[in-house]
Amino acid sequence: MQEALAEFKELKQIKENVRRNINALECCWNCQRISECEQGLGESAAAVWLCTGCRRKLLTCRPGRTGASWQHSA
Ligand SMILES: [Zn+2]
Repeated sequence: MQEALAEFKELKQIKENVRRNINALECCWNCQRISECEQGLGESAAAVWLCTGCRRKLLTCRPGRTGASWQHSA
């Protein structure tokens, strides 16, 4: 009986840890992968969850995209 109780406590702790880890994980809006995401701005300027890689990619490619088509016609 005592052993079962210790096992139960351990399971409870594992469950807590898993829950804490899952809370830190989000589905990336861009690549649809589950990873540690931070809220960033997507193409529609709405707050979305983005993983570190996608956030960096979106940040670096956005300035080049805006105005590029306008410059072309000039
Ligand atoms: Zn991503």
